[in-house]
Amino acid sequence: MNGSKFGILGGGMVAGYAAKQLVELGLRPGELTILSADSSVPYERPPLSKGFLAGTDSEETIRINAEDFYRKNGIELKLKCEISAVDTQRRRLILKSAGEFEFNKLLVATGARPRKLNIPGANLQNLCYLRTLEDSKANKEAISMLEQAVGMDPSYAPAWAALGLRYYYDAHYGGGGREMYQRSESAYERALALDPNLMLAAGQLTTARADSGDLRRAYQQAQALLKSRPDSGEVHLTLAYVLRYAGLLDESAHECDTALRLDPGNYQFRTCALPFMQMGNTERARDFVNLDAGSEWSNYLMAGILMREGKLNAAQEIVQRLSSNPYYHRNLLQVCLQHGSGAELDRLAREVESTTSEIPDPEPRFFRGTILAFCGEQEIGLRMLEAAISHNHCGYQALQTDPLLAKVRGSHEFRQLLPAAKGCQDKFLSERQRDSSAIRQ
Ligand SMILES: Cc1cc2nc3c(=O)[nH]c(=O)nc-3n(C[C@H](O)[C@H](O)[C@H](O)COP(=O)(O)OP(=O)(O)OC[C@H]3O[C@@H](n4cnc5c(N)ncnc54)[C@H](O)[C@@H]3O)c2cc1C
Repeated sequence: MNGSKFGILGGGMVAGYAAKQLVELGLRPGELTILSADSSVPYERPPLSKGFLAGTDSEETIRINAEDFYRKNGIELKLKCEISAVDTQRRRLILKSAGEFEFNKLLVATGARPRKLNIPGANLQNLCYLRTLEDSKANKEAISMLEQAVGMDPSYAPAWAALGLRYYYDAHYGGGGREMYQRSESAYERALALDPNLMLAAGQLTTARADSGDLRRAYQQAQALLKSRPDSGEVHLTLAYVLRYAGLLDESAHECDTALRLDPGNYQFRTCALPFMQMGNTERARDFVNLDAGSEWSNYLMAGILMREGKLNAAQEIVQRLSSNPYYHRNLLQVCLQHGSGAELDRLAREVESTTSEIPDPEPRFFRGTILAFCGEQEIGLRMLEAAISHNHCGYQALQTDPLLAKVRGSHEFRQLLPAAKGCQDKFLSERQRDSSAIRQ
């Protein structure tokens, strides 16, 4: 029989954080054993129905502690180990596979189980419950299943729309590049041809127009959607997105507020954190980031919020939790937040500029350019801002209000960006004015 001073029954979120805390409090190697029926090291469960399912988080990014944390700290992790009883008198756990485990102190952290449906059809083969990592599907698997689904029934519009979203996630976060963007647009177009009322597909096609710089058509489409569905939070989000690209942060923020009021808790509204961050309203930005709390994407944005608040140590802590996915450029943020400069920072800044230039959407260029300017990489940062503006991510208001740009705002090079950003925004505003006058006539 084996045992240890402390035992944790269960290997979920509580177990992961308790182990972390015990180590911080001076736990010695060999003192703790975690006994878990799970087959994976403790992970955050909320992303299973959000970022992980969407493909923006990976197994690595949702872990509470790195995989080698347990070994390094002498914590024994017994996975696939189900406990059938606790004998509190003898301080023993009774293993389902036979055998016992002795402890001095025990933390019971067995979480919850899904309540199974008790209705006719509840035992059908393809009825799924979502509780564990195994239950959740990687984006690429979802793509393959949806491709099969539309192959079997090409007339089912929601499957095309769902496939379009999966392709988009792969293009944006999974390194799928332009080809996946194109596939995403084609899938949405198929969905809309079959069902013009599918808001998800219509909204995504509109934002794709904004990504490609066609702000005028994107705005027209968003307005048309709004006319037919003024009560849809997703439609207000679409309009907010286009306005953000046009540089009109106040208007964008207003649409975001409306979206959240109409559909509180929709995690897709998390993107609305951006205009508020750029306006310096970090408190409201937090509300939107928290819609997707626990995901890697929200950690990334939370680091940006903390940087804007000048809380660089707290930002550093969050950045440590980011994965090596190039989308989050963790190494650059780490060096920057440790007040690093010199050759290493220059190399990382060039790397970020190069990987970002492969993304057709200009917003990551603007967002990362801002970060680089803050980190002291003014030349590359401003070049990226300029590139974003020239691809119709106007950014005129953000240039004037984003707290991260405070240090460079006085420079001659920065001031040279403003006319281009204003020109971009003025063009959008005059087209909008002309189009709305034409409609009124
Ligand atoms: C899909 C999904 C989305 C969620 N989203 C959110 C959200 O957005 N916001 C939010 O606040 N919360 C959310 N939650 C809830 C949140 O994940 C839980 O509150 C949290 O996981 C509870 O942590 P825990 O450690 O108590 O339990 P769990 O994380 O469930 O871990 C329980 C552990 O105990 C193990 N176990 C159970 N019985 C035994 C046994 N007999 N022997 C051995 N091991 C055993 C399990 O294998 C597991 O490892 C979500 C949950 C799910 C499933």
